[in-house]
Amino acid sequence: MLVPLALVALLSGATDTAVIKNRRIEKHQTVAKALYDAGLDDVTVDAVHGALKAAEFDFRKARPGDQLRFVLRGGQLDVLDYRRSLLTEWQVRRDGEKYVGKKREFEREQRVEVVELNVESSVWDAAIAAGEKPDIAVTLSDVFAWDIDFYRDVQKGDRMRAVIEKTFHKGRLLDYGNVLAAEYVGSSVGTRRSFHYRMPDGTESYFMQDGSSARKTFLKSPLKYAHVTSRFGGRHHPILNYYSNHNGVDYHAPVGTPVWAVADGTVTRAGYETGGGNTVCVKHVMSFETCYLHLSKISVKVGQKVSQKAVIAESGNTGKLTTGPHLHFGMKRGGGWVNPLNQNFPRADPLPKALLPDFQAQIADALTKLDASPVAAFGTK
Ligand SMILES: [Zn+2]
Repeated sequence: MLVPLALVALLSGATDTAVIKNRRIEKHQTVAKALYDAGLDDVTVDAVHGALKAAEFDFRKARPGDQLRFVLRGGQLDVLDYRRSLLTEWQVRRDGEKYVGKKREFEREQRVEVVELNVESSVWDAAIAAGEKPDIAVTLSDVFAWDIDFYRDVQKGDRMRAVIEKTFHKGRLLDYGNVLAAEYVGSSVGTRRSFHYRMPDGTESYFMQDGSSARKTFLKSPLKYAHVTSRFGGRHHPILNYYSNHNGVDYHAPVGTPVWAVADGTVTRAGYETGGGNTVCVKHVMSFETCYLHLSKISVKVGQKVSQKAVIAESGNTGKLTTGPHLHFGMKRGGGWVNPLNQNFPRADPLPKALLPDFQAQIADALTKLDASPVAAFGTK
């Protein structure tokens, strides 16, 4: 039967209107379920599933938050874009009666850049003020964790410079890689410099310019630097501390601040106690033991081996002996309480002399960048 062209156009007019549906994978939702929920029928779900599989889509890697964009015409799926990250997405297109899938990867660019932070309030805010992602504050606090407590030691007017690897996509900063070199100039901690070194055996670590280790057996603080929004007060990091005669240091921290093991060790206590609330204790070398009290969450078990910087708990406000959200941090040596703030912990072994030339050669470029004078501001000359 011949149908006048105008009528064909009229009939197909309705089907030409694209309907776009944007969805996300929900918690506990499979990809197939998401396809059904978007209104696709059995046959289409099957076909899309097959097309994704053919395009090396790994269904086990589907995560809540993955984005789906459906383009439907006349109630039929035309195009599906499945976006896993800024850099990876899949597209499934209708091709006549079947669907064809394609993986698309976007190019990324790696650059080494110098970042300069000037602290007005917190390192977190300084990062934002410098146009960086605030994650850089966490990354840098990790580099100096043996010498600087990023909650307590950071003062207004302190400066940091870092030579850091960055990944970009279309000019947009995606994430940070290694900190190759970093300098902290602070009124309470003095000047600290640290350099990233990949040893011939592949181990990576931080050293000072002369080859001595940046690491120590114990970290400066039991609290890992993090951005914790507090219901108590508007500041991001309302943390003070004092040492008193009650066997430890109190860090006034918002509930949920990550607590990390200050040294390698074995968990000796992990559970609720009347006075201290949720408590974790860890036994270390040289007959040291550390205890973390009033926790909101415990992530380790008695007998478990933990490494330095492993997050073992979250700070809280539990137990009878608490008057507000804080971490009570205690340290024992040979069975007796000591003041953790007065300990002088030894550094890890320095670089073997034989590796010094290799180390100096590897850090040379980062050192030059670190030493280069800051870019002059506009209008100065
Ligand atoms: Zn206390």
